[in-house]
Amino acid sequence: MPPLVPESLPLLEQMVDALKEPTLLLDPNGRVAAANLASHEWFGTWIDGQSYVSVLRQPDLLGPVEDAFGYGRAGTAQFSHSAGAVETLFEVSVSPIAAQPGRRMVLLVFRDVSAKRNEESMRRDFVANVSHELKTPLTAIMGFIETLQGPARRDPSAQERFLGLMALETARMNRLVSDLLALSRLEGLTRRRPKDQVNLAQVLRDAVESLSMGADLAEVALRPVLPETAMVVGDRDQLMQVAMNLIENGIKYGGRPGAVDVSLVEIAREPVLRGPAWVLEVRDDGPGIPPEHLPRLTERFYRVDTGRSREQGGTGLGLSIVKHIVNRHRGRMRIDSREGRGTRVTITVPAQV
Ligand code: ADP
Repeated sequence: MPPLVPESLPLLEQMVDALKEPTLLLDPNGRVAAANLASHEWFGTWIDGQSYVSVLRQPDLLGPVEDAFGYGRAGTAQFSHSAGAVETLFEVSVSPIAAQPGRRMVLLVFRDVSAKRNEESMRRDFVANVSHELKTPLTAIMGFIETLQGPARRDPSAQERFLGLMALETARMNRLVSDLLALSRLEGLTRRRPKDQVNLAQVLRDAVESLSMGADLAEVALRPVLPETAMVVGDRDQLMQVAMNLIENGIKYGGRPGAVDVSLVEIAREPVLRGPAWVLEVRDDGPGIPPEHLPRLTERFYRVDTGRSREQGGTGLGLSIVKHIVNRHRGRMRIDSREGRGTRVTITVPAQV
């Protein structure tokens, strides 16, 4: 039987090489005495025997390393490494190791914390966005209240107008909070597949019907071309939300007068989904979306024209919700748009076989 571990490499060395974190051992003179495979991959093989100052070249690290050598104190430091446009942030643990009396070695272990930092900054951005979105209508409402208490106190027609505006702003906040709740519920459900049998064609008919009055008022013709049945495994309410958001966007941002086509066709084998699928298309003949915005449309709060979206009662969360729902249904989503020609959103979901 071959030996479990090749004898040419000492066990300890193999163990250290197997660690994913770059790890460096500095000798009492501050030179790299040992480096594992990961640190050679990150910093290069030239580092062996070099002074840590020339290898790491970052002042944030120098203090903690000096403390470890001088006072035997353990510490941590941040270290950023850039390769081209990609910057990786490490948290480095700096540990003194007693080698001989009075002469210490220092062990540096680098932990990649970039993902954690990105998550934190995304969370911070999200909180800032939500606060801003809520603050705008709140500030308006506070202004109206002041006016109602002051200059408009005895003016019934002004009162009626301001109360109408307050109702609009409150409805906006209500929509925002509902969309936020929907998003947070969806994020919790991503890994749980929906289980119900749903007729997607009926869902689309219901959505078209409930939006038809608003579409008439906006002078937009809704033109559904749907089969009788289109069975999928899904969550009816969520599929309804997809249909409503896409058709509403067609009405809000499409041409005026204009038309929104809603179609659903089956394909026998969708290459990515590797099976039969339903393809839903919602197409408008509006001004379209400039290409540079397309990749970002499903980000939370991303809008092409913030003023226009607000004016239309948009929250900037609709497409992000759609994307989450489509993912939960193992589907695909695509947005195509030509300036001046209109926008087409295509959703593909596995058909029930
Ligand atoms: P909103 O609540 O602002 O409508 P969405 O997430 O649904 O948010 O859409 C994001 C942005 O994408 C909108 O603000 C709008 O600028 C743009 N958009 C969405 N659908 C269309 C469309 N059919 N035509 C043109 N622009 C659109």
